[in-house]
Order: sequence, then C-alpha cells, then structure tokens
Amino acid sequence: MIDLKGNEKVREVLLEVYRRLYDYFGPRRWWPADSAFEMIVGAILTQNVSWKGAVQAIDNLKQWGWLDLGELLEAPEGELAELIRPARYHNQKARKLKSFCRVVAEEFDSRLDDFLTQETGSLRRSLLAVYGIGPETADCIVLYAAERPVFIIDAYTHRIFNRLGYFGARVKYDEMQAFFVRNLPCDTKLFNEYHAQIDALGHRICLKRAPLCGGCPISVMCKAAETNAAAP
Ligand code: SF4
Repeated sequence: MIDLKGNEKVREVLLEVYRRLYDYFGPRRWWPADSAFEMIVGAILTQNVSWKGAVQAIDNLKQWGWLDLGELLEAPEGELAELIRPARYHNQKARKLKSFCRVVAEEFDSRLDDFLTQETGSLRRSLLAVYGIGPETADCIVLYAAERPVFIIDAYTHRIFNRLGYFGARVKYDEMQAFFVRNLPCDTKLFNEYHAQIDALGHRICLKRAPLCGGCPISVMCKAAETNAAAP
C-alpha cells in the first residue's frame, strides 16, 4: 500500500482519476436540493439506502408541508416516521431529523444560517454530537450545505481506492480523509465534484461483487482491473 502522506506523484494520480471520471460522467451538479435544509434532511434520509428512497420521503415531506425546521420539530414522531417510510429505518431517521432540528432550535434559536456559518471544526463537532449523525453525514453537510472544503469518505471511496491500490481493508475514515486532503488542492468545488464522481463510479461501474472493469474510465490506473478481467 502507498503511505498516506502527501506527495506530488500521488497528487497527479488523484487529479488524473478525477479528470477521467469527469470526462466520462460529466458534471454531477450535487447536491440535488432546493435549500440547505432540504440538503441536510436528504443527507440523513439517504443513510444506508439508495437516493431513490430518500427522494420519495422528501417528496412526502414537501407535500405534507413538513420540509421545514419548525414543522419537523412540532411533528408527532410516529407520523413523521410513517411519512419517511420509503427511506427505510424510518423510526430511527425520524428521531435523527428531530434531534438535528432540536439542536438548531435550542442552541441557535432556529437560525440554520447561524448554525452553518460556525467555524468549520466547530460545525463538524456540533453535527457529530447530534444523535445519528456520523462522520460521513456530517462531512456531507459541511461540504454541500455549508460549502466548506472537507473531503467525504463513503463505502464507494474505500472500495475504489482499495482496488486502485491505495487503501487497505481496515483503513480508518480519518486516515482516508487525510490522504485526500493532503494530496489535493483545498478547493470546495473540487471536493464537491470529486465525491459526486466517485459516487457515480461506485454506483454504476465499480460494483461490489462484479465490477465492470471493461467499461471503467480508470481501468488503466487500477491494480485490480487485471485480476477482475481474468476472473471467469
Ligand atoms: S478497473 Fe474495475 S476494480 Fe478498478 S476502479 Fe474500475 S471498475 Fe473498479
């Protein structure tokens, strides 16, 4: 495995991966939401499920008039859970949404802008203190709602960069994040698009069980490609 410290060669490789993905998939225009609050709700609803289920749950909230911090806070938890059922784990997620809204209401007088304009480290800590928000969801919110340059790690990132030969099976979230931050320019737009490109590759081509290496835009850079091509 390549060590996790920054160097010019790794930086070039990471930028080349990005260029190839961008040329292949085109701009992803993330995060698909009409407001910062909708983005945050979506980040919680899409935990452990496909985006499709989260979208259906968000549409239900919109139709019910509950896609609003105050409304969500007032909503009976059981009814809220029913409304977001398409996003699965609906009881847990109803509790998570209400927990987030409660923090903003109690500590920031319901002013989401004030919550999001905290200094980056403080914002991340505030998010991680909310029930049900872990590093990936917190970083999604910091990047896509607060527009700060943090690099999001998810299962696709680990799988793809493990196959490329950079990460071991047991590498930690913070180590992977530090790897990208050390080797890439600190740029919110780049981090935004890079994560979206990784998601497209992991979702469509670099599949968990049978990656479609023959059609992969980064196969020439991938250590696993030869093995996968040789597999029956
Ligand atoms: S070549 Fe195959 S294993 Fe490597 S990143 Fe592409 S799809 Fe994944």
